[in-house]
Amino acid sequence: MASVSYPYPMHAPVSQTLFDRAAVVTPGGVNSPVRAFRAVGGTPRFMVSGTGPYLTDADGREYVDLVCSWGPMILGHAHPEVIAAVQEAVARGTSFGTPGEGEVALAEEIVARVEPVEQVRLVSSGTEATMSAIRLARGFTGRAKVIKFAGCYHGHVDALLAAAGSGVATFGLPDTPGVTGAQAGDTIVLPYNDLEAVHEAFHANPGEIACVITEASPGNMGVVPPLPGFNQGLKDACAKNGALFISDEVMTGFRTSKAGWYGVDGVKPDLMTFGKVMGGGFPAAAFGGRADVMAHLAPAGPVYQAGTLSGNPVATAAGLAQLRLLDDAAYEKVDAVSAEISGLVSEALTKQGVAHRLQKASNMFSVFFTGREVRNYDDARGQEAFRFNAFFHSMLSQGVYLPPSAFESWFVSTAHDAAAVERIAAALPAAARAAAEATEEGAK
Ligand code: PLP
Repeated sequence: MASVSYPYPMHAPVSQTLFDRAAVVTPGGVNSPVRAFRAVGGTPRFMVSGTGPYLTDADGREYVDLVCSWGPMILGHAHPEVIAAVQEAVARGTSFGTPGEGEVALAEEIVARVEPVEQVRLVSSGTEATMSAIRLARGFTGRAKVIKFAGCYHGHVDALLAAAGSGVATFGLPDTPGVTGAQAGDTIVLPYNDLEAVHEAFHANPGEIACVITEASPGNMGVVPPLPGFNQGLKDACAKNGALFISDEVMTGFRTSKAGWYGVDGVKPDLMTFGKVMGGGFPAAAFGGRADVMAHLAPAGPVYQAGTLSGNPVATAAGLAQLRLLDDAAYEKVDAVSAEISGLVSEALTKQGVAHRLQKASNMFSVFFTGREVRNYDDARGQEAFRFNAFFHSMLSQGVYLPPSAFESWFVSTAHDAAAVERIAAALPAAARAAAEATEEGAK
């Protein structure tokens, strides 16, 4: 760890210069909207390196990273064994456009870990995985309509951008220009955790609903776990009505347990989607499930799906190395450090009298600045997000990097050790005070 003194100044001159350059050649200066810090204000930090639980920015400042690349870096940054696997793979060439053993091994690893997955197809992003799963569900059932839940984010798939979470929640966009009525018209958006609404939708659209897609345990409106019986209720409603149940585990997959959220609640989906952790920090994602459904996919069946870089040898080597290191002991470690950090956050906020809800899904957690339980997107939007912004900047200035939005999960890794936790603990009292003193006017 570098020797550093806090607080870091608000101004980050090198990051600002890079951001100014970026804004000339890239819309908004970033390649994914939440990175731009618009929700919290200030200069996004341009990172130059990561080691274990730490990130170092272009101004030479070091942060404990509680974003972990939005989930993938569950072993921390630059894990030596993952890096070695990547170096070994890259030395043999970076892409062949042919089948390779690495993709078979990664598929076998996924199938071995997640029982409902009998067959799997590799793709390059979570967006591609959910888009393809929806197409497959439509092709398999011969139906058009899709049920999704407000606040769940499934990537920027046209049909799924209605009332989405993540960046769409951060910016409060009601809808996205560029998505046509036809693309969104077959999407039925329902409130999360509301089984009654699901039953009504099936009743109102007999024989028309191809699938229900849900985040296995949502993290894209902040962490809002399914109420007991909700996922089972979705599965039962789908089975009764001839629709497929798609569990989106892009965020939770191989993170919330060895078998993702399926390993936690045991509800068996027809199709599942994966990304993030399974790519080891590279663009690798997947969708899979029942073999009879997957058999409809080209070239075995008529539903077309393809990708130049699908199953890329470097990405699959990274993902496989990471998954093989994720044994029971690794998950115990991540769960324990997550409990420790989330406990410290709650304690600090309570000490300052800040109304908050700390919500968890295994080792994923987030803080809502509200006194009420958050069960759906409306509840999440009801929080005092301006308090988060003050909290965020205080933590940043003390060398702790949080997701730059009140609507995101926080992520930890096996590399978050006592020193990292200590730094977080040291930063929390001032950040909690900043949250307590924040006003809505001050945030404008
Ligand atoms: N599904 C979920 C649940 C996600 O959290 C995300 C991304 O955050 C996606 C899909 C899209 O994945 P990607 O960003 O790799 O396209």
